[in-house]
Amino acid sequence: MSDVLNYDENCLFCKIIKGDIPSAKVYEDDLCYAFRDINPQAPTHILVVPKAHIQSVAEVNKHNEALVGHIFTVIAKIAADEGLTNGYRVISNCGPDAGQTVPHLHFHILGGKKMREGMV
Ligand code: AMP
Ligand code: ZN
Repeated sequence: MSDVLNYDENCLFCKIIKGDIPSAKVYEDDLCYAFRDINPQAPTHILVVPKAHIQSVAEVNKHNEALVGHIFTVIAKIAADEGLTNGYRVISNCGPDAGQTVPHLHFHILGGKKMREGMV
């Protein structure tokens, strides 16, 4: 499907971006890819990932900050397209204490229901 900068052959999301593992695509451009989470935690649960293997928020830096900024523009567009007019949550788990299970930077978009209060 697409090339991944710094493709990691052991990375699930690199394989999804490349099309080697199927996914329910929501959006794609030259820089990022969005697809539905396989285990949704809300009526709308979408993951947005860069088309570059960046491990987590901890690896965001001056060289890739424009890419991350672009992803947030895409997040706003996807949320609008999905009709999340009453709000939504954007989450990025970073590292073991946060419960990150896939070490490729991703942003969860969660919406379509009133979120539980707590944590944030
Ligand atoms: P995190 O725990 O923040 O690293 O989030 C990883 C997310 O990836 C979880 O919400 C999983 O349900 C989701 N996930 C794992 N495998 C797949 C897959 N093959 N397709 C779509 N989502 C997946
Ligand atoms: Zn990756």
